[in-house]
Amino acid sequence: MKPDVMIRPQPQLAQAVMDESGQNVNLCYQCRKCAAGCPVSYAMDYKPAQIIHAIRLGADEIVFKSKTVWLCASCETCTTRCPQDVDVMKVMDAVKIIATRRGVKPAIPQVASFNKAALANIKKCGRMYELGMIFGLKLRTFEFFKDMGLGIKMVLKRKLKMIPSFTGAWTTWRIFRRVKSLEKKNRNA
Ligand code: SF4
Ligand code: SF4
Repeated sequence: MKPDVMIRPQPQLAQAVMDESGQNVNLCYQCRKCAAGCPVSYAMDYKPAQIIHAIRLGADEIVFKSKTVWLCASCETCTTRCPQDVDVMKVMDAVKIIATRRGVKPAIPQVASFNKAALANIKKCGRMYELGMIFGLKLRTFEFFKDMGLGIKMVLKRKLKMIPSFTGAWTTWRIFRRVKSLEKKNRNA
C-alpha cells in the first residue's frame, strides 16, 4: 500500500553542505555512533545524526533553527567514530557558514558573537588575547556585567594578561588575508 504523503528529499541543502565541507552526508546510514559519543548531545535539541538526516532531506527549517550546530564544541569525537568516514564536525561548521552567508539568525546568538569576537581578536593580536576578546564579546552582546565577579577573580590571580604580546601577529594577518582571497576566488569560480 502506498503512503498517503510522499516525502521527497530536497538535495539542495546536502549539496551546499558538500560544497562547503567536502563531506558526502549521503554516506550516512544512521548508525548514530556520532550522537552516542557527542559530549554535548544532552543539551542539543537534535542529535548530530538527526541533523545529518535533516540535511539529506533538505529540511532547512530544522537544520538552521536548531541549536545543535551552535552548541557543537568541535571536539571531533563524532568524526573519529563515524564508520562511514563522514566528518560530522566539518558538516556542523559548514551549516554555520551557510547560515551566516544566508543571513539566518543563529539559534544561539551568544555563540556566534563569541566566534566573531575570538576571530577578530586573533586577527589583531596574532593569538588569543583573552582580556581583549572578553571586551570585544561584551561590546557585541551588551552583557557588560555578566560574569564580572569571575573576571575580577581571574585578573587578581593573574590569569588574564593585561597587555597582548602580538607574537606572530604578522603571520596570522597574512593567513587571514590568504583565506579571504581564496574565499573570494571560490565565490567567483
Ligand atoms: S564535534 Fe561537535 S557534534 Fe561532534 S562530538 Fe564534538 S561536540 Fe558533538
Ligand atoms: S556515525 Fe556516521 S554513519 Fe553513523 S549516524 Fe553518524 S554520520 Fe551517520
